[in-house]
Amino acid sequence: MVAAGTLVTGVGAAGALGGDSRIIPLAAGTDFAAAFAANTTTAPTSQTTAVRTVHAVEPGLEAAKLMRSEALLARQHVDQAIKHASDGYQGRQAELKRQQEAEQEAEQARVAAEEAEKARVAAEQARVAAEEAAKRPRVAKPAEGAFTSGYGARWGTTHYGVDIANAIGTPILSALDGVVVEAGPASGFGLWVRVQHGDGTITVYGHVNEILVSQGQQVQAGQQIATMGNRGQSTGPHLHFEVWIGGSQKIDPIGWLGARGISL
Ligand SMILES: [Zn+2]
Repeated sequence: MVAAGTLVTGVGAAGALGGDSRIIPLAAGTDFAAAFAANTTTAPTSQTTAVRTVHAVEPGLEAAKLMRSEALLARQHVDQAIKHASDGYQGRQAELKRQQEAEQEAEQARVAAEEAEKARVAAEQARVAAEEAAKRPRVAKPAEGAFTSGYGARWGTTHYGVDIANAIGTPILSALDGVVVEAGPASGFGLWVRVQHGDGTITVYGHVNEILVSQGQQVQAGQQIATMGNRGQSTGPHLHFEVWIGGSQKIDPIGWLGARGISL
């Protein structure tokens, strides 16, 4: 028999020790509730629930939470879809921008190439012009023809130039580079042209038939400035040519031309 401890009787233990009554040693049970549940079929439901449930469940709240979660998930999907669409749009816009920039760069390159070609052509033209300038004469014989009269005393007066005779219309050329200082009528010469050169010397072309330049015009050595004529006090078609040193001192053109490699 039980030697120690308090005895407690189960349901229906009010009677004698025999029958279906059972005796459980209280001290041996560490969990009275568990022992009670295991040995009692008629235990109150509320008591059983209170023992077995860890926390209360409120179905309404759970559903709301679930719906809220679903809503958040849906919202997340919508956001992602919007972001994808936005990314796609931005991607297309960026691609469009890149294409436009590429086209602009290509256009700029084309323009630059055109400019480079223009510069190349201009440089070539400048080179050719410089070559031609280098080749062109620095001095020219004023007119082709017969030397008919020299500088000095003639017929009781002084002849201040040389005469070169040829047909009317024969080209008359500027002897040096210079500027036309006068082109028009002149007493005794009919028409004349006077050209001033870099050192101040003026060359004079008289009795011309036709003037081809105008006052103030730049001319080059060898450039035609007039045609031979018979105007003024002249005994036949010829060029009367003078050289004025310093713009006023009339000298014999023979020596002046000779010093520059031109003989009449
Ligand atoms: Zn003369």
